[in-house]
Amino acid sequence: MDILLTNDDGIQAKGLWALYDRFAPSHRVTVVAPDRERSAVGHAITLHAPIRADAVSVNGAQRAYAVNGTPADCIKLAVAELVGQTPDLVISGINPGANVGVNINYSGTLAAAREATLYGIPAMAVSIQGKSPAFYDDAAAFAEKLVHKIDRYGLPQGTLLNVNVPDLPGKKLRGIRLSRQGNEHFKEGMERRLDPRQRPYYWYGIYAPEPVGEADVDAVALARDYISITPLRCDATDYDHLDTLKSWDICI
Ligand code: MN
Repeated sequence: MDILLTNDDGIQAKGLWALYDRFAPSHRVTVVAPDRERSAVGHAITLHAPIRADAVSVNGAQRAYAVNGTPADCIKLAVAELVGQTPDLVISGINPGANVGVNINYSGTLAAAREATLYGIPAMAVSIQGKSPAFYDDAAAFAEKLVHKIDRYGLPQGTLLNVNVPDLPGKKLRGIRLSRQGNEHFKEGMERRLDPRQRPYYWYGIYAPEPVGEADVDAVALARDYISITPLRCDATDYDHLDTLKSWDICI
């Protein structure tokens, strides 16, 4: 297959190259990733500055580019210029840190996969639990299994997969849960500090609690050592509420 890899952690990130090592031997792999970390930039694209792509040589990769833009920029540029043809599949990751629940709204990892989906390219985002994960290779091995399934069954137009893997050796995983996005808001805070000139500044932080909720919620599945797979749609329309809105009698 013609596979495009990207991430939001930057071209040097371990998780990206774990995917490369896994897929390069048997696929035509192109890497187009931000030149620095762009975590939590969401689906931002660059409109008011030039976008540049530098060919880089990491891990002996033939086709790897560092882009001074966002994850979504990387997909646009890859499709328009760098891959040469529409890839068969886009994988974004492997992101260190789970992308579950409300995080999905901010994640650059997810945004890159969503951007590919907007182009009609099958895509998945892969994240692994923890800030300094040890088992990227096991997560990449699972990604490969899933790629075989995507190749076989396809994905519906407008749907992408969000995959979260516990940071465990493959043998210790309890299994796979097909899950839904949790909606619990994390405990968060804006820490107020003072700069050397005694002016206040603020630093945002989140404090992930032990996830609560039903067993089919993404974060809960992950916390119980299951791989979580959630299908997500680009179309954010609430079709149920569309009907409810009709009863508001606001249309003339
Ligand atoms: Mn990231």
